[in-house]
Amino acid sequence: MRSLFGISRDNLVSFLVANGHPKFRAVQIYEGLYRQNVNSIDDIKVLKNEFKDFLKGNFYLNSLELVRKEESIDGTVKYLFKLYDDNLIETVLMKHDYGNSLCVSTQVGCNFACAFCASGLLKKQRNLKTDELVLQVKYINDDLSKKDEKVSSVVVMGIGEPFDNYDNVLEFLEIINDDKALAIGSRHITVSTVGLAPKIEEFSNFPLQVNLAISLHFASDEKRSKYMPVNRAYNLQELKEAIIKYYEKTNRRITIEYILLKGVNDSLEDARALVEFVSGLNCYVNLIPYNSTSSKFERSDEKAVNEFFRYLKRNNVNVTKRKEQGHDINAACGQLRNKQIKEG
Ligand code: SAH
Repeated sequence: MRSLFGISRDNLVSFLVANGHPKFRAVQIYEGLYRQNVNSIDDIKVLKNEFKDFLKGNFYLNSLELVRKEESIDGTVKYLFKLYDDNLIETVLMKHDYGNSLCVSTQVGCNFACAFCASGLLKKQRNLKTDELVLQVKYINDDLSKKDEKVSSVVVMGIGEPFDNYDNVLEFLEIINDDKALAIGSRHITVSTVGLAPKIEEFSNFPLQVNLAISLHFASDEKRSKYMPVNRAYNLQELKEAIIKYYEKTNRRITIEYILLKGVNDSLEDARALVEFVSGLNCYVNLIPYNSTSSKFERSDEKAVNEFFRYLKRNNVNVTKRKEQGHDINAACGQLRNKQIKEG
C-alpha cells in the first residue's frame, strides 16, 4: 500500500495500464486529489465502485498533521507537521512581492553536519517519502486558497539534503510541476544542494527546467572542509567540474549560495577565492545573511557585506544580496523543530 499523493502521473499510468485499466483514469484521479480536494478515494465521484475498490486495495489517502504554526511580523509563516511515525518536520512560507514561496524539508534531520546549520543537530532519522514532500505543498496551498492565494514558487531548502533523497525528490518535483496536480512552473522551483558532485551531474538528465542552487559558503578547500564535512568527500575542484558538466548539458545557470559569517568567510581574501571559483562558470552568486542559530557564528556586519559585494561586482560577478525573512520566528532551517522538542 502506498499514498496516492506519492505517485507521479506517469508512474500511476504505468501502474494502471499494467493492471488492465485505461490511462485516462490517472487524470480523473489527479483531478479528484488536486482539484476537488477529496478526503477519500470513495469521494472521487467519476470513478466506478469496482475501480474504487481496486484503487483502495493498492493506495490510501493521507494528510499531514499540523502541530504548530507561527507567523512572523513580515508575513513569514512557519508550519510544524507531525508525520505518521511522530517525527516532526518544518515547512516555511515566505511572502514576496512576486508571490508566495514555500521552503520544503526533504529529510527528518540531516547527516551533512554543516557547522553553522541547526538542521544537522539532529542526525538523519529517515528520508521523507514522496507523499510527505507533496503534502507539504498541498497543505499550505489549500490553506492559502481560503484567501484566494496559492503557492507560487517552491524552494527545496528546508531541513535535509535533497540529493540524499534523490528519487523521492525527483518524483515530488514531477508531481508539483504537473499541470493536473499543483502546477508550479519549473522555473519557479529551486533545488538546493550541499554539493554532492555525482548527483549534480546526474540531475542534468532530469527533464524539468528547475533551478539548481549550490550551498558553497566557502571557496577554499581548507575552510570548506573545516565547516562543511561534505567537502572532504567532494572538494571544490570536483564540485566545479560537476557544475560545468551540468551547465553543458542543461544550459541552465545555477545559483551559488554564500552565507556571510563574521570573521570566518567574509574577508577580501575570501572574496578573491570566490571570484576564482566562479570564474568560467555561468552562475549567479547570492549573498545570504546568517540567521543566528549558534553562539559560534555571527552574521557579518554591514560594512563587510558591502565590501564583499562590491569586490564581486568589480570583478564582474553576477551577485545579489538576499533579504532576510522570519528572523523573529526562528525561521532558519531546523530552528522551530528544535524549539518544539525542547518545550516538549
Ligand atoms: N541541504 C541543502 C538544503 C537545505 S539548507 C543545502 O545544503 O543546500 C538550505 C540553505 O540554508 C543552505 O544554503 C544552507 O547552507 C543555509 N543555511 C543553513 N543554516 C543557515 C542559517 N542559520 N542562516 C542562513 N542560512 C542557513
